[in-house]
Parts: sequence; C-alpha cells; structure tokens
Amino acid sequence: MFSADIITLFPELFPGPLGASVLGRGLNEGLWALQATQLRDFAPDRHRTVDDTPSGGGAGMVLKPDILARAIDTIAPAGDLRPRILMSPRGTPLTQARAHELATGPGAIIVCGRFEGVDQRVIEARNLEEISIGDYVLAGGEVAAMVLLEAVVRLIPGVLGALDSRDEESFENGLLEYPQYTRPQSFEGREIPAVLTSGDHGKIAKWRHEQSLALTAARRPDLLPVKER
Ligand code: SAH
Repeated sequence: MFSADIITLFPELFPGPLGASVLGRGLNEGLWALQATQLRDFAPDRHRTVDDTPSGGGAGMVLKPDILARAIDTIAPAGDLRPRILMSPRGTPLTQARAHELATGPGAIIVCGRFEGVDQRVIEARNLEEISIGDYVLAGGEVAAMVLLEAVVRLIPGVLGALDSRDEESFENGLLEYPQYTRPQSFEGREIPAVLTSGDHGKIAKWRHEQSLALTAARRPDLLPVKER
C-alpha cells in the first residue's frame, strides 16, 4: 500500500484537503496511508530548536541538518525503500509521469522546508530528491507536498471511481484535454457542439483529438513533439 510520511513544522495542516472527497474516502478505507510528523520532536534542546542562521550571512533561517537527519532516520530506517523527497523550488518540476511512478511505488517520505530552506549537507547525505511544483516561491513545503500527494494518490487503483476518466485527461497522452460539455443543450445562446450529440463515436473521438491538438498548439506548444509545433 502507498504510505506517505510527511516531515513538517506544521503537522496539523494534514490531511487538510487530502482528507476530502474521494482521496479522503480512500484514506479512511485504507487504500493509502498518511502520517505527518513534527520535526521539532527530534530537537534535543528545551526550546526544540530546528533552525539556525545561514552560514556566510544573509536573511532568514536554515533548517539544521542533524535534526532533519534524525527525523528521516527514525521515520525511514535502513531498508525502507520509499523515495525521500524534499519539496523545493530548485527541484525537478513535478510531472504526471513522476506522479505515475510514485503511485505504483511503496509511498514516499516527504520533507517540507520552511524559512530559507534546508542545509545542503542533509540533502546530499540522505539522498533527498528535490521536487518543485512550479516556478514560484511558497512560504513552506506543506502545500507543495499536498499538491504532489493529490496528483499521486488519485492515480492509486480504487481511489478514483471511474478508471476511464483518467486516461483522456490533460497530460495523460501528452496533450491538453479537449473541452467538456454537459446539459442543458443551450446555455445563454451557446449550443453543445453538434458532433457530441451525433452518437457517432468515431467522429466524436476524432473531434476531441483535433480539439486537444489545437488547444495544445495554442497554449502549450512546448508539449508537442518538435515536428508538430
Ligand atoms: N530560499 C529558498 C526558498 C525557500 S521557501 C529558495 O530561494 O530556493 C521555503 C520552503 O517552501 C522551501 O524549503 C520548500 O520546501 C517550499 N517551497 C517553496 N516554493 C516551492 C515550490 N515552488 N515547490 C516546492 N516547494 C516549495
């Protein structure tokens, strides 16, 4: 079973949105597991200090390597094969492909940064895979970890009811999804495209593929193979 362990200064934020709707139902039914651990529990001093000033000077605070290493080693002792992830704006951008890989694996240890970030030595010593959710800077890794887990957990078999609805989505075939419609037939003078109510499944599939290609070319040409741009 996919089991996620979060290391954070704000464990009370979890499960948060991950506890709602189908993901929350999957969590309650034991289709996946989630534990959030307070990093401060691994600080030995009375003040439960987890950070210190940056070596070399500068603003902010840096998470100390020894405390974080102790947390990681306790939660994931030798033999725990789950990937160790650090949410980080410097990381590899999260993709649907990486979400699929994680969903078929045993889970993940996810470290949420705060302040200016994490001492580089613990990133190297504990082999943390840095993953970014986009080219912007958040205040902490918690929301980023939720984004990662939401993308992954919905791919776990049984979590989403209809298996089919996943296969045609944006990114699943390398393209953005075609536009969706539902009743009423007429909305403020706008009709559902006639092909969708024609009952001709071949024509519908062709129309949807053309729409996907056109949308992708207009909005995200970087997703298309070079020869199709
Ligand atoms: N000084 C750092 C930013 C620290 S932001 C820098 O310039 O790289 C504090 C924490 O928020 C980070 O340690 C990370 O865990 C999280 N975070 C911020 N932006 C993120 C992003 N785009 N993706 C993933 N995590 C992010």
